[in-house]
Amino acid sequence: MPSAFDATRRMIAAMLQGRTTSDIAKQSRPDTASPLKPWIRPAKRLEATFTAANWKTLLGHSGASEADKAELYDAKAQEQLERYEHNVENYIGTLRLPVGVIGPLRVNGIFAKGDFYVPLATSEAALVASYGRGARLISSVGGATTATLAEGVHRSPGFAFGTTTEAGLFVAWVCENFGLLETAAQATTRHGKLVEISPHVEGDHVYLVFTYTTGDAAGQNMVTIATAAVCAAIEEHSPVKPLHWFVEANFSGDKKASAMSFLSVRGRKVTASVELPGEEIEKQLHTTPRRMEEYWRMSALGGVMSGSIGVQGHYANGLAALYLATGQDAACVAESAVGVTRIEQRDGNKLFVSVTLPNVIVGTVGGGTGLPTQSAGLNILGLKGAGHARAFGEVIAAVCLAGELSIIGALCAHEFASAHKNLARGKA
Ligand code: NAP
Repeated sequence: MPSAFDATRRMIAAMLQGRTTSDIAKQSRPDTASPLKPWIRPAKRLEATFTAANWKTLLGHSGASEADKAELYDAKAQEQLERYEHNVENYIGTLRLPVGVIGPLRVNGIFAKGDFYVPLATSEAALVASYGRGARLISSVGGATTATLAEGVHRSPGFAFGTTTEAGLFVAWVCENFGLLETAAQATTRHGKLVEISPHVEGDHVYLVFTYTTGDAAGQNMVTIATAAVCAAIEEHSPVKPLHWFVEANFSGDKKASAMSFLSVRGRKVTASVELPGEEIEKQLHTTPRRMEEYWRMSALGGVMSGSIGVQGHYANGLAALYLATGQDAACVAESAVGVTRIEQRDGNKLFVSVTLPNVIVGTVGGGTGLPTQSAGLNILGLKGAGHARAFGEVIAAVCLAGELSIIGALCAHEFASAHKNLARGKA
């Protein structure tokens, strides 16, 4: 096995490429002498004139050509400029990403019930085919059973005091004044609701983990705005004044996999499961329940040894593709793609497979859900607008279940590499 020393030596050789280490050190120094390329002018609103100015800068000073401009800033991107007003700054156009569709994926859930066509936006060949294969298997045996298990979106402001005693007195005051803080939060939102405050003391620092329910919105903006109002109320009313505070002190699990949100919830905690007859596994996945369980045992230990949070195969693939297709915050795949996949062979040559994802943070209103093509994605699912967010969470769990079944089946049947080779490299 190559040592870290060998790997470092190889990397240094690759960096040098005929240069000396002093050349590299010189190149790495701050450079205030060379003229800077023109700034992209920050614009509060999206307007064709600002976009034109951005393109002028890019055409003159970047690698982009008129042809690149025509791709990014085509007729639709110009015509629909206003639709992007609250979703991006310094607009230069829109990106086209291929979208595939799978289904019908039958879901028998608490909130999702029916057959769903699922749009997946990706540039990774084999992804849609793989999820489609899993969906076909699930639907052919009557569908996945799904459930929404918990809900909550956190914001975690941090407050610094001069002594641990002050920190303790502050926590005592917060505990006695939930009503006051709740009122401050409620003044900012109709659908968001502050449901819990969990204090964590570290020395003379206090982290308050606020948990909100956020209706049909993913809720990150909602909870930030509400928490800022709560912090303002704290500043005004608390008899123990913090030396300083921050509206978010990195305890909320926002856009990162964390032990806390794995054990509790961030967004929605959802689960999906299916029991599969061995004959269907042989027919559709070309393997057996026993081999699938053997694979799961080995991969679960692989996950444990590698230190992953949870144990799962590739939730991120389906989540990223579905988040992009439906206007979710794609960066939230960071926290959403943790969870537990479990596979058990059961009596009668059957296989039980389940997925449980505690951090599915998605909305069917707000965020990017109203953008032109993303809105179309939610319409394909039939889950656009108010009243659908819980169902959407359950469909997402079923999609992840489909993805796990297909990839594990492919690995068991030794078809993993050949599927990618055929679908991704066929053209070359
Ligand atoms: P949002 O679009 O900022 O807020 C949702 C809006 O929808 C609110 O104005 C809400 O009104 C309204 N609404 C109408 N019907 C609703 C219903 N049935 N349920 C819930 N809300 C309803 O979206 P968000 O979900 O709060 O935030 C998501 C966005 O935040 C994403 O674009 C994400 O990229 C971004 N983000 C922000 C932060 C941050 O810290 N600010 C961090 C990560 C991501 P009411 O509020 O009056 O109920």
